[in-house]
Amino acid sequence: MSHGDPNAQPVSAIVQAPDERAVERRLRPASLDEFAGQQAVVRNLELAIRAARERGEPVDHLLLSGLPGLGKTTLAHLVASTSDAELFEASAPTLQRAADLAGLLTRLEAGDVLFIDEIHRLAPAVEEYLYSAMEDFVLDILIDQGPSARSVRIDLPRFTLVGATTREGLLSAPLRSRFGIHERLEPYPADVLATILHRSAGILGVGLDADAADYLAARSRGTPRVANRFLRRVRDLAQLEADNHITCEVAEEGLTRIGVDRHGLTRVDRLILRTIGRADGHPLGIKTIAAAVGEDERTLEDVYEPHLLRQGLLLKTPQGRRLTQQAWALVDPEGPGRDLFSA
Ligand code: ADP
Repeated sequence: MSHGDPNAQPVSAIVQAPDERAVERRLRPASLDEFAGQQAVVRNLELAIRAARERGEPVDHLLLSGLPGLGKTTLAHLVASTSDAELFEASAPTLQRAADLAGLLTRLEAGDVLFIDEIHRLAPAVEEYLYSAMEDFVLDILIDQGPSARSVRIDLPRFTLVGATTREGLLSAPLRSRFGIHERLEPYPADVLATILHRSAGILGVGLDADAADYLAARSRGTPRVANRFLRRVRDLAQLEADNHITCEVAEEGLTRIGVDRHGLTRVDRLILRTIGRADGHPLGIKTIAAAVGEDERTLEDVYEPHLLRQGLLLKTPQGRRLTQQAWALVDPEGPGRDLFSA
């Protein structure tokens, strides 16, 4: 097999494309037992669901935080299915007006689960309506303006709100305090990601050697979405060139083709390091890096930087981002001033 040119690949090997949602759904665990890792979180949720069922009440409102792709949406689905409830999904940025939220809430029936993704991005006016909906299960809607303005109260069924956020710190205190349960998902260890990969390979009908699963898992940034994504890309190669069986060699070749190097760094990661390296030891702000790399700031902060920070390659200082010694060893073993990535 020949090695592909990593530079010929799309810029991002790890950010989710909208058309991937369907295949993600296929790989989603169907029960809490199938949800790998995050044992403390799963235990707490099981307990909350059982206790709520015994009381004949809906589960407490639940706030799930953690980086993209760690399983927040999956858990929202599992909370609903485990409590035999219907799930309604919305993303906060699509709830522009109070009426959008009212439309959603009035569709709910008792016990239903409403999942709001990216809840830290709710518009303040919409968020205020959510307070009474969460606390008292009522909506006070203002009708008309000026002297004829009046408020109409709508009773809502008792529902469970599951909010997901990648930035818990950006949530307002009043909203945060209305969630009875707060759970934080952490990046997964490689052995758990390998388990997820084996399960996904079974569903996709592709052979996966243990060392190949370990190779992919170690480069998946602690994130099941990235692991599954790598698996699907590598599966294409296995199907066309390796009898539908992923060996370690196929895994390595497949990742190289999508621009992921043996350190698990993508093209964007390398671009970020190179950009900071070019500043010759001067710290760089996120805006400068985003402009140089061609990614938006949020994606840089949510997807790329956490991995570089965890890998000990990046330092965030009040002045800006700097490279660590270890990163310099990758960018240029002789220290600031030269740039091996461009070689
Ligand atoms: P988030 O909502 O946090 O961005 P998702 O719930 O959409 O993440 O998960 C992304 C993908 O990873 C989905 O295909 C999901 O099924 C899979 N996944 C996430 N967590 C797990 C897990 N613990 N076990 C198995 N698969 C998982």
